[in-house]
Amino acid sequence: MSPYPARAVIDLGAISDNVRALDDRSGAAQVMAVVKADAYGHGLVPSALAALAGGATWLGVAQITEALALRAAGVTAPVLTWLYAPGAPLAEVVTVGVDVSVAAGWAAHEVVAAARAAGVPARVHVKVDTGLGRGGVMPADLEELLEVLMAAQAEGLCVVVGVWSHLAWADAPAHPTVLQQAAVFDEACRTVERAGARLEVRHLANSAATLTDPAMHYDLVRPGISVFGLSPVPELGGPADFGLRPAMRLEADLALVKDVPAGHGISYGHDYVTPAATRVGLVPLGYADGIPRHASGTRERWGGPVQVGGRRLGVAGRVCMDQVVLDLGADAPERAGDTVVLFGDGTDGGPTAHDWADVVGTISYEIVTRVGARVPRTHV
Ligand code: PLP
Repeated sequence: MSPYPARAVIDLGAISDNVRALDDRSGAAQVMAVVKADAYGHGLVPSALAALAGGATWLGVAQITEALALRAAGVTAPVLTWLYAPGAPLAEVVTVGVDVSVAAGWAAHEVVAAARAAGVPARVHVKVDTGLGRGGVMPADLEELLEVLMAAQAEGLCVVVGVWSHLAWADAPAHPTVLQQAAVFDEACRTVERAGARLEVRHLANSAATLTDPAMHYDLVRPGISVFGLSPVPELGGPADFGLRPAMRLEADLALVKDVPAGHGISYGHDYVTPAATRVGLVPLGYADGIPRHASGTRERWGGPVQVGGRRLGVAGRVCMDQVVLDLGADAPERAGDTVVLFGDGTDGGPTAHDWADVVGTISYEIVTRVGARVPRTHV
């Protein structure tokens, strides 16, 4: 039994099943499971292995440290990493056979230098800004970037294996920018091939495009949130509508249950004052654990994000750093040590990460990725 009174229970079978569902949806395209940010809070290595078991053939991570952690854990599947700044330890990355995104001249020069130092050609995916306005080389600058890369390829220092980009409005299917981005992407792929690259993978689709737009699948899809069983487009459908199952259940053991009188102020600032004599319960999770402080006072505003027994209860008063208080109701049967669920797969009427996202005005991505590092992940 862990001494920590709360845990994120991760259903690895759900991750494998979700990837299977995504693989079915993506037809001939391969699946790169995006496992950045500690696999969206689910635990990098166990989640990556579960995704591979479900049929993913690639893994995608933002940070170099994440890619190196996968290799250090013995993961041999193809990995792409895409976010680094000048001076990053690219030689280490190239040495362990991790593919690298390149989106700028300086990055091309550093990747080539890393390959020279490592004595191994770097496998490069050229990232193009097709309209997201974030990472990626501008199409107007692509040819100049390719001059550096193709000269290095001729010297045996790199191989351009991929072209990729990211959509701005994939969560709004049929949004005109999706087709515009695809057209820019197609042109970029042609430019890279004309420069002499033999592309293995062209990839553009995140979860939303994987689930809703086969025209965006190309050779490889890059789902993240859906791997973990959450819907990228909640307004179009919940997880079950896409054949997905949320993999994370966040639960805590009540640290204290006590009776308080009517008119008792609860938590900082006494935003909640008990309307009658009642029993309160202390949940040992707070904003340091990723419980949004904006969930303060949800008792008044919402049916309740926390499942206690068969009931749904809101947070009474302010969310604190390490704890929140529930008004369990007079004569509630709960005792210290009883387990409450903050979110899970939503079966038996329980709350989901989508519910938390709705109530605090964010997206489920933020709810799961913010579960704090000190909360133990239990993989089942
Ligand atoms: N590709 C890139 C470049 C990303 O940054 C992300 C996540 O933000 C993904 C794919 C996966 O997106 P999603 O979680 O919406 O499937």
